[in-house]
Amino acid sequence: MTGNVVIVGAGMAGVRTAVELRGQGWRGGVTLVGDEPHPPYDRPPLSKTVLLGGRDGDAPVDVRFDVDFAGLGVELRPGVRAESLRSGSKEIVTGQGTVPYDRLVLATGAYPVQLPGTAGLPGVHSLRTLDDAAALRPVLAARQRIVVVGAGWIGAEFATAARQAGCEVTVVEAADRPLAAVLPASVTAPMRGWYEEAGVELRTGTRVAAVEPGAVVLADGSRLPAAAVVVGIGARPANGWLAGSGVAVDADGAVLADDRLRTSVEDVYAVGDCASFPSARYGRRLLVHHWDNAVQGPRTAAANLLGGDQPYDPVPYFWSEQFGRFVQYAGHHTDADTMVPRGDPAGPAWSVLWLRDGLLTAVLAVGRPRDMAQARKLLGGSPAVDPERAADPAVPLRSAVR
Ligand code: FAD
Repeated sequence: MTGNVVIVGAGMAGVRTAVELRGQGWRGGVTLVGDEPHPPYDRPPLSKTVLLGGRDGDAPVDVRFDVDFAGLGVELRPGVRAESLRSGSKEIVTGQGTVPYDRLVLATGAYPVQLPGTAGLPGVHSLRTLDDAAALRPVLAARQRIVVVGAGWIGAEFATAARQAGCEVTVVEAADRPLAAVLPASVTAPMRGWYEEAGVELRTGTRVAAVEPGAVVLADGSRLPAAAVVVGIGARPANGWLAGSGVAVDADGAVLADDRLRTSVEDVYAVGDCASFPSARYGRRLLVHHWDNAVQGPRTAAANLLGGDQPYDPVPYFWSEQFGRFVQYAGHHTDADTMVPRGDPAGPAWSVLWLRDGLLTAVLAVGRPRDMAQARKLLGGSPAVDPERAADPAVPLRSAVR
C-alpha cells in the first residue's frame, strides 16, 4: 500500500495511531488533523494534577504528549475541524479545505453531555479539554462554592481536587448512589463515606431542574448556592460530522467498528472513545471510554491498516484517583456474575472479584495495585478461581487460581 493515512482527532487514540503506523514500518504520509488549538495532550491529568498545579509559583503541569511529530514525519494540523466525510471521493472536508486520504482513521473521541438549558451559561463548566481545565483553575484558586452535577468518575475526581483547593463542594447525583451505572450498590456503599470524609456533601436521588445565576435549582424546588457548576454526567462519541458519510453509527452515536476496528466504509478505521467494537471475549459490543483502550486500539488498527489481520478483543482497564484512593478496574462483569469481596471495604485497601461459572471476569481494586497487576495477567485467560482463597486478602490473587 502507498499514499496518505489521515487521522481525524489528535487525542491519545489519534496520536498513538500515528506513532504505531511509523513504529510498524509505514513510510507513506501520515496527516493528523485535530480541532483543538493546542499541541496534542493527555486527558487524565486534567481532573487531577492540572486543576491544582501551577499555583503558588509552581510551573503549570505539562500534559503534552512527548512525541516528536516532525521527527516522525507526521504532518500535524491543529485547529482543523473535520466537518464532513466524502467517502466516495476519499476526502474529508474541513473549514480549511479538503484533505484527501487513501486510508482514514477516525479518532474523534467524545464530548461531554450538557445539562439541558445550560449551554453557554456563565459559571457552568464541563471537564473534557485543556481549556475546560484552564477555566476551572481560577474557580479552585478563588475557593468558590461549587456544585458538581454527577457522582461518576469525573465528578469524584473533580470534587477531590476542589476540596484540596479549599472549595465548598456539593455533589448532586440523580441516581441513588455514586457510580450507579457501572458498579453494584454493595460495592459503591463505602464510597459514600469517601465523600463525607473529604468534607464533600453528596446528595443522591437528587435531580437538577435548572441552573440560575449563583444557584442550582433542584427538582424539589430547593436551591443550592453555587458560584460555579461542574457538569460530569457522561460523554457521547463525537461523530456528528459523519452524518451522510455511510459510516455506520449506533443510537448513541458510536461508530460501529468490527473486530478488526474497520468501519462499514472501506479503508476507514476507528479507534478510542468514538467507536464500539464487538468483543468475542465478553459476547457483546463494547464502547469503552478509558485511556487504555485509546492506547491499545491504535496498535491493532495500525497493524490491520498495513495489511494485517488482527482481532481487537482487549480486557478493558481503567483507573481513577479519588479522595486519596487509587481505584482500578479490569475486565467486564454483569449483574449475573458472583461477587467475591476481598478485604474490608471500610478500610483503605480492598478488592472485589466477579466470577461467572467459577471463572474470573472482572476485578475492582481500591488501594491494592498488586491485586490489579495479577488480575490483569489472569483476566487474559479467564481462569477458574477458588472463591474462598480469593476472598482472603492475605492470599496472593494468582495463588487463588485452581
Ligand atoms: P479524545 O481524547 O477525546 O481525543 C479526540 C480528539 O479529537 C479531541 O482533541 C477532539 O477535540 C478531536 N475532535 C473531535 N471531533 C473532531 C473533528 N470533527 N475534527 C477534528 N478533531 C476532532 N481514563 C482512564 O482510564 N483513567 C483516568 O483517570 C481518566 N481520567 C480522565 C479525566 C478526564 C478529565 C477525561 C476527560 C478523561 C479521562 N479518562 C480517563 C478517559 C481518557 O482520557 C479517554 O478515554 C481518552 O482520552 C480517549 O482518547 P481519544 O483519543 O479516543 O479521545
